[in-house]
Amino acid sequence: MELPFAESWRIKMVEPIRPSSRQEREQWIRDCHYNVFQLPAWQVYIDLLTDSGTGAMSDRQWSAMMMGDESYAGARSFFKMKDTITRLTGFGYVIPTHQGRAAENVLFSALVKEGDVVPGNSHFDTTKGHIESRKAKAVDCTIAESRDTQLEHPFKGNVDTEMLDRVISENPDKVPFIIVTITNNTAGGQPVSLENLRQVRRVADKYGKRVIFDSARFAENAYFIKTREEGQANRSIKEIVRDMFDLADGMTMSAKKDAIVNMGGFIATRHEDWFEGAKRFAIPFEGYLTYGGMNGRDMEALAVGLDENTEFDNLHTRIHQVQFLASLLDEYGIPYQRPAGGHAIFVDASKVLTNVPKEEFPAQTLTVELYLEAGIRGCEIGYILADRDPVTRENRFGGLDLLRLAIPRRTYTDNHMRVIAAALKNVYDRRESITRGYVITEEAPLMRHFTVKLAPAEQ
Ligand SMILES: *Cc1c(COP(=O)(O)O)cnc(C)c1O
Repeated sequence: MELPFAESWRIKMVEPIRPSSRQEREQWIRDCHYNVFQLPAWQVYIDLLTDSGTGAMSDRQWSAMMMGDESYAGARSFFKMKDTITRLTGFGYVIPTHQGRAAENVLFSALVKEGDVVPGNSHFDTTKGHIESRKAKAVDCTIAESRDTQLEHPFKGNVDTEMLDRVISENPDKVPFIIVTITNNTAGGQPVSLENLRQVRRVADKYGKRVIFDSARFAENAYFIKTREEGQANRSIKEIVRDMFDLADGMTMSAKKDAIVNMGGFIATRHEDWFEGAKRFAIPFEGYLTYGGMNGRDMEALAVGLDENTEFDNLHTRIHQVQFLASLLDEYGIPYQRPAGGHAIFVDASKVLTNVPKEEFPAQTLTVELYLEAGIRGCEIGYILADRDPVTRENRFGGLDLLRLAIPRRTYTDNHMRVIAAALKNVYDRRESITRGYVITEEAPLMRHFTVKLAPAEQ
């Protein structure tokens, strides 16, 4: 018989986790005003809040940490990291930063100014924040297919290049660069095809513009190119990664994702002028150019992580687990953004809790129900996250209302996936009886989801 699939690693160190009782969870979630960000992590059994910085490092990464060179300037660990990045991407200039948003802050300080227009595919919220805080505009040119969760499309993260062309032609002097997020996090961890990246390059060249990749999950993106795009099946991940970056001028990176470290990030580029511009901000914001907020040991682990996670086996194990969870949801008929993305499953709460009015936040309600059911912490990517309209101060109900289940890398087993799916099924089975959601009792003016306080709507 054919041998079943199994992980491409075995486990050398474990961390105990503890299930709790429903009674305990009812108390805990009340205590934190129905906002899972406020839960102490020990009150969580399976933590799917994010895949950022929550992965498990390998034995090679831990041993590399012992080789950390903690020299203030010119540490050996920096050059090891830089050489790895240059080998993978072709970018000769590298600036370390303490995480991804810091890379955005440093580079955009040099490149983005008031009145600018930055087109891209569903800018990540920190990316958008760093554009808008400079009084520039982020224009989302993601293909329309990404907004229909039930539509199957192999590259739902793609850029609508006709729209991109139009945006640049209407603002020829206001576009400092195009930014392509790989994979497209906000659209559901959806990949961008190599063909689409080539089309973006063509549009950029037509107008003499440069292209940045927001690269947090570039390796997962390369995996999808290999497994879904015509003519790519027999190529190595590293070959595909190089082809991708050959189409860009620079990158920002949150190493907490595809470099599988707990903290870290960087900027890389092929252009000296971008490097010189970013340098001026890197030193005051992050630190000297050969550490930028990172320890020597962390740069060592980052270098090894990048190398390991651009190998097929590691990525195959990871994506297989996300797809395994998706297959269980398929079995139970639970709707999510299709096909499953690279780092998470996004359950379509508006299609599950159809009796909860949108004013009572269905995705947040589903997040709380899943926690109450089994101590699983997901995250609302919906109407609460969308904040209020800056002008009318009305809630924004125009987008999708999703429960994100982000899967940390190399952290949980397929048995945990079975628990997650079963818990969701239990909630799904009683969905008709869930008719009321939550109302906001306290909220911050911006990025309210982290600190918002809620109360059950029926009271
Ligand atoms: C996480 C993320 C960022 C920001 O990185 P941090 O390390 O969290 O600061 C930027 N872009 C994308 C696509 C991300 O997923």
